[in-house]
Amino acid sequence: VGFQKILTLTYVDKLIDDVHKEFRDKYRNEFQQKGALGLLNGTFDFKDDFMRLLRDAEDSSKVRAPTVMKTFEQSSKSQKTVKCMIETRGEKPKEKVKNKKNKGSKKDGTEAVAAPSKASAADKQLSAAGDKEELTKDEILQKNREEFFRRHMKAGEKSRSPKPDAQKEKGKKPRVWDLGNSNAKVLDYSNSATNGSAEACPVEEFDPDMALGDKNREPGRLYDLEYESEDEAEEEKVVQNPSKPSVKKGGLGGMFGMLKGLVGSKSLTRDDMDPVLEKMKDHLIAKNVAAEIAVQLCESVAKKLEGKVMGTFTTVTSTVKQALQEALVQILQPQRRVDMLRDVMDAQRHRRPYVVTFCGVNGVGKSTNLAKISFWLIENGFSVLIAACDTFRAGAVEQLRTHTRRLNALHPPESHGGRTMVQLYEKGYGKDAAGIAMEAISYARNQGFDVVLVDTAGRMQDNAPLMTALAKLIAVNAPDLVLFVGEALVGNEAVDQLVKFNKALADHSMAQTPRLIDGIVLTKFDTIDDKVGAAISMTYITSKPIVFVGTGQTYCDLRSLNAKAVVAALMKA
Ligand code: GDP
Repeated sequence: VGFQKILTLTYVDKLIDDVHKEFRDKYRNEFQQKGALGLLNGTFDFKDDFMRLLRDAEDSSKVRAPTVMKTFEQSSKSQKTVKCMIETRGEKPKEKVKNKKNKGSKKDGTEAVAAPSKASAADKQLSAAGDKEELTKDEILQKNREEFFRRHMKAGEKSRSPKPDAQKEKGKKPRVWDLGNSNAKVLDYSNSATNGSAEACPVEEFDPDMALGDKNREPGRLYDLEYESEDEAEEEKVVQNPSKPSVKKGGLGGMFGMLKGLVGSKSLTRDDMDPVLEKMKDHLIAKNVAAEIAVQLCESVAKKLEGKVMGTFTTVTSTVKQALQEALVQILQPQRRVDMLRDVMDAQRHRRPYVVTFCGVNGVGKSTNLAKISFWLIENGFSVLIAACDTFRAGAVEQLRTHTRRLNALHPPESHGGRTMVQLYEKGYGKDAAGIAMEAISYARNQGFDVVLVDTAGRMQDNAPLMTALAKLIAVNAPDLVLFVGEALVGNEAVDQLVKFNKALADHSMAQTPRLIDGIVLTKFDTIDDKVGAAISMTYITSKPIVFVGTGQTYCDLRSLNAKAVVAALMKA
């Protein structure tokens, strides 16, 4: 009861209830006759009853345990453990360092390090096989304690995550310009007489491996964003809590807090929650959630929880945290999901191309992520026509041409039965973007392209003429999907951009029911560490799904959103 945070016994609430009732019923008469003071001097023969109730509670929890637990084989850690053991024998220096930390007070050699992990693996396998029911109470306690200390030590080790290093190794190597800064004129292609033609592009070496990124992936599969397992998050919590007592009021604070915890079962008031909510709000803002949205989120959590009766051992902080977590997951899983592959197939059946328009401000990654999406579509067997409707920014057409050339090199017609899988439709600069998009769509229909991806010029959300032009492009061409491309780096700005893009599409549309943004491409997710708040801000404000997440600069750096991943990163201290 006293060490709930270290050793969580699921049956404690029930046990205390049972003891309470049994004790009250057994000594009811004495209470009534002697009164409270008389009771203090009395003796009670309750030990046997208590032991019986404890046994019952333990038994009932054991019956439930196997259904709740994940088997060892199912957990990803089962593979990690085995791998660790093999690598230790191969004497890899990295693993050795890791194992040294694990040793703790043990002075044995490598063999001794391997042994405990073997034992714990064996333990886990035993429990997975359902043998847990046969463990005695002491064994369970011992096992839980071992588990706690194992986690504790591991969490310490993990504080410096090895991930960034691994990513660095994978990442793009800096490009070395042969001419350096010595002759800038040679690098200036803007005055070329052949503007818009293939020769105008710098012909650079193309390394398919570097353009592809992850070579071990399954072709055509859109992987989920990765996230730390819940285990790891829990580990951190367990380690942090003992050093941060929540009540700090004078010397009696700790004891008072404990008693308060034991009495528990009170309903939550606004006053209880306010300090916690304030902290949560600051936490969310620090993680890049737009300030206004952080306030609204906390407010909605407060409304939901006010008057709710807390469980005996739950703290206000944990209750608020859990409610917030649930609210965040809900926000990230909007009602309408976009299943692009299914929709493209549907359009195919109707013998028409599926049209996607990309919009957003400058430099957020529209063209780059359009190319990644092209690659993903091609790997799924769909041919793509890229419409170069950014007729404004110098180099925009050349950028798309380079992508088209590379994509064709990766998927040449020979490997697709002579079919060109990706082609660029361009009319150079300065022309009307809506007109080019329309021509591209009819060209795609005639040539039998499955998908048309329309790149548009980046524009600031406050630029009314450009926003009108975008609304026109969308109204005239009626694309199947309008994707807003936004970078994960922004905080409050993300909301402003989205609100204004949506509003401009509504205001400047000629249709009765204007086409608004259907979904979001969240780019540069690889650059924000755990400051993932933009994902929340963007989905909260539009209730539109994040359809793709850009996680780097190679064609394979495209993921689908994993709500749990984002929320886990967001809640991480
Ligand atoms: P546009 O102006 O919106 O078309 O933006 P670009 O496609 O030209 O991209 C601008 C810059 O952002 C380029 O240097 C891209 O390589 C980079 N970029 C795009 N997406 C990502 C991403 O997901 N991660 C990272 N790290 N960089 C990206």
